[in-house]
Amino acid sequence: MEDPRLALGEALAAAADTLRHHRDLGLTEIACQMTSSRDPGAELAAQERALQGCPRCKLSKSRSTVVFGSGNPRARFVVIGEGPGEEEDKQGKPFVGRAGQLLTKMLASVKFDRERDCYICNVVKCRPERNRNPEPDEVAACNPFLLAQLDTIQPAVILAMGNFAAQTMLGTKDGITKLRGRAYSYRDSVLVPTFHPAFLLRNPGDQYKRMAWDDLKLARREWERLTSG
Ligand code: SF4
Repeated sequence: MEDPRLALGEALAAAADTLRHHRDLGLTEIACQMTSSRDPGAELAAQERALQGCPRCKLSKSRSTVVFGSGNPRARFVVIGEGPGEEEDKQGKPFVGRAGQLLTKMLASVKFDRERDCYICNVVKCRPERNRNPEPDEVAACNPFLLAQLDTIQPAVILAMGNFAAQTMLGTKDGITKLRGRAYSYRDSVLVPTFHPAFLLRNPGDQYKRMAWDDLKLARREWERLTSG
């Protein structure tokens, strides 16, 4: 087998020859095109298949379905909620039912089409019984799957919906009212926390709606800043 150091040396020498040739021709710039053979859709589908029947935490006992995520795998905008509720558990999709309909409207209000422009998932993929908050060991068990999803999608912006998602992802005990209203750095993305649509349904006053609208506009601006050009 060829010595990899020799092969690398030859490749670098050939590249240097090419660059000298370009210089001799008077060229001062070289167009580079990176092509990627990554297929985020196939990667997510493989992750979802691997998660079927997952026994890694006690939420496996209360779920009917592993609710992995839905939307566009190439979206640079990811919405993350807490965990599947009853309806999500039945349908196998995140954010369905009334809260899901409100989320669709909220996204549309800043010109995001839910299926085309977003990918939607939860901190934990299985429904906690009686919709209780997931416990720390359950979050820890499921976290590698969320991180794998994010590594695949590489979102520019993450919208963290509700107390639990925002607190978990930012590693803080501060409530959503304190956390919202600004953008945070999260791994290679920008994270914008806002109210969960289920909370907005329970608190229909203008006060929270206005704050959520401001957060969505902030998320949209961040997305435009990070994805333009
Ligand atoms: S919540 Fe996550 S770690 Fe727990 S059983 Fe479901 S998929 Fe597995």
